[in-house]
Amino acid sequence: MSVELLRYLWIDSLCIVQDDEADWREEAAKMSSYYSQAYITLAATMSNNADGGLFQWPKDIVLNDGSQTWCVRAMRHLQRATTSTAPLFQRGWIFQERLLSPRVLHFATYELCFECNAQNTCECKQDMPDQGWQIKQEYLNGPSWKNTDPTVADIWHRMVEAYCKLSLTKPADKLPALSGLADQMRSRRGSNYFAGLWDDTLLDDILWSVSTLDDKRAPKLVPWRAPSWSWASVADSIRYGLYPRLDEVYCTVMDVHCSWIGPSTTGELRTGHIILHGPTFQGAVRDGRNLYGDPETKKPVSGYFSPDYQLELGVMPVVLLRIAREKRMLGREYLLVLKKVDENRTEFERVGLFEFFPLGSRWNELDWERAGKQTIKII
Ligand SMILES: [Zn+2]
Repeated sequence: MSVELLRYLWIDSLCIVQDDEADWREEAAKMSSYYSQAYITLAATMSNNADGGLFQWPKDIVLNDGSQTWCVRAMRHLQRATTSTAPLFQRGWIFQERLLSPRVLHFATYELCFECNAQNTCECKQDMPDQGWQIKQEYLNGPSWKNTDPTVADIWHRMVEAYCKLSLTKPADKLPALSGLADQMRSRRGSNYFAGLWDDTLLDDILWSVSTLDDKRAPKLVPWRAPSWSWASVADSIRYGLYPRLDEVYCTVMDVHCSWIGPSTTGELRTGHIILHGPTFQGAVRDGRNLYGDPETKKPVSGYFSPDYQLELGVMPVVLLRIAREKRMLGREYLLVLKKVDENRTEFERVGLFEFFPLGSRWNELDWERAGKQTIKII
C-alpha cells in the first residue's frame, strides 16, 4: 500500500471569492477540471450546511464498572433510507461534483463510505446503494459517447431527471451547477450543448415533460433563466419517456442558438432560441389543463397534456407542433404545445408537451391532412 502526500486542499467556499459574481463565473467554468483532477473529494454528507462539518458521529457511551472505564460507539451501516435523505444528496451542486470526482470519501453518521470509479464500499464492507451511485456507474461505464450509440441520449435523460429533483439555493444556478459535467460530456460526445440539450439528439432532448404527483404545477419562473424549450426553464421535476422514441420524425431543426453571460458556454444564459420546421395545428388549452384541437368544440383531444407550469384559466390559443412518433407503445405521438409570446411578435414559447396514441384514440380529432407546415421560432 502506498501513501500519497496531498499538498493542496481546495475548498469552494474559501477558494471562490464569496459574493463576487465575476470570480464566481470564472471559477464555475473550471469546476470540471477541479473535481475530475482531484485526488480525492471529501464529502460532508450528513451536514445541513457549510458550518455543519464532516463529523456527525453520536457521542461515545462511557461505561464504568468501578475498576475500568469502557468506551462504546454505536455502529450502523449507512442504509438506502438514509442516503435518500442525506442533506448533501439533496443539493443540486453535488450532482456533478460526485460524478466528476474519481474518489469520494463520505462522512456518514456512523461510518465512512468510499466510492471510486470501480466500486463503493464502507467500513462494514457493504455497498452504499443509492440513486446517485447508480447514475455514476451508468455515466462511467455506459456508452462510447458517440452519437451513434443509442444509449447516449437515454443516459443523459436519466441524469437530467435525477438532477432536476435536487434543490438549489439560487434558482439561477440550474445550468451552472451542471456545467462542469456538461463540459466533460461535450468533449466526450463531440456535440454542442444548448441550455441542457445536445445538438445531435435535439429533437429527442426537447421531449421532456413536467412530472408532479398531484398535478399541481409551479408557477412560471421569474426571473428568466432558460428558454422555454429547455427543461432548465421550469421549477418542477421533469421526466423523459422510455427510449428509443423517435422512429418517425416529422420536424426539422433549422437553427439553434444561445448566448451566455459568463465565459462558460454551458453555464448561465443570456438568451436562447430554436427554429423548428414541421406540421402544425391550431388548437387551444382550456383552464390550463385540457387540450382542444378546435377551440369551438366542447370535447378535449384524448391524450396526455402536460403543462410546463401553472397556465392561466380560460381559453388560450396554442399551436401544436408535431415532432415525432415511436413505433412501440401503440405508436405514441409527441407534440410541442406552443403559444405566441404576444400578439405583436412572431416568436413562440413552449407551454407543454402533448402525448397521444393515434391507434388507441380518435385519430381524426387532429386532422393532419388539414395541417400546414410552418417554421416556428421558440424562445
Ligand atoms: Zn457500512
